[in-house]
Amino acid sequence: MLKLKNIHSYYGNIHALKGIDIIVNKGEIVSLIGANGAGKSTTLMTICGIVPAKQGSVEFEDQDITSLAPDKIVALGLSQVPEGRRIFPFLTVAENLDMGAFLRDDKDGIAKDLDYVYGLFPILAERKNQTGGTLSGGEQQMLAISRALMARPNVLLLDEPSLGLAPIIVKQIFDIIKKINKENGTTIFIVEQNANLALKAANRGYVMENGAITMTDTGTNLLADEGIKKAYLGI
Ligand code: ATP
Repeated sequence: MLKLKNIHSYYGNIHALKGIDIIVNKGEIVSLIGANGAGKSTTLMTICGIVPAKQGSVEFEDQDITSLAPDKIVALGLSQVPEGRRIFPFLTVAENLDMGAFLRDDKDGIAKDLDYVYGLFPILAERKNQTGGTLSGGEQQMLAISRALMARPNVLLLDEPSLGLAPIIVKQIFDIIKKINKENGTTIFIVEQNANLALKAANRGYVMENGAITMTDTGTNLLADEGIKKAYLGI
């Protein structure tokens, strides 16, 4: 479904991604873990066309999207939930969700998806007339995920969904991510520092260090790996 081949990305002279290869198959949850500054966010921004790849290719459903503009990539069915949520703070919850569907014109489908996300996160239905900026961090994360779902993506890209949230909220968010995958078959690619939760949720995982992929295996095998335990799980 999504294939990164030998991707190199730069910020000026900083060589942030050094030839990475990642495959995400249809219907999978795949997690990319790594320390601060490893290049996880850059990987997502390269997929979405925000940071251009200097070398290598990104394929989505067998189409080369390496040089496509971000809006064209969203239109193809790839939606990103950015790090730090980036909801629209002065728009209401309902207006934020409308923005997620801005490329669609199927009114009935939009209404159905709105019901679906309000069902996933009933607190958002209760707060639909409240501005996004007045929500708690966890509610903003729920809104950011819901806004991305309103584009009805085939692949959902999540950047650090656990960032800055209390453990109980993080668990709730990961449960919903698994539910979205199971109920809709949405393919999910998660970039996360919380290796434990990210690998538990994932079918497969990749480990990134210093802009390169150093390991890949099933989530279960990575969780059991002694090196991973020491470096990322604090065990
Ligand atoms: P974090 O979890 O802190 O977001 P990360 O694994 O997502 O870390 P990236 O944000 O992708 O890592 O950063 C990869 C490298 O690129 C780091 O060395 C970082 O300092 C550098 N970098 C990231 N964004 C920029 C930028 N806008 N300008 C210059 N360098 C950047």
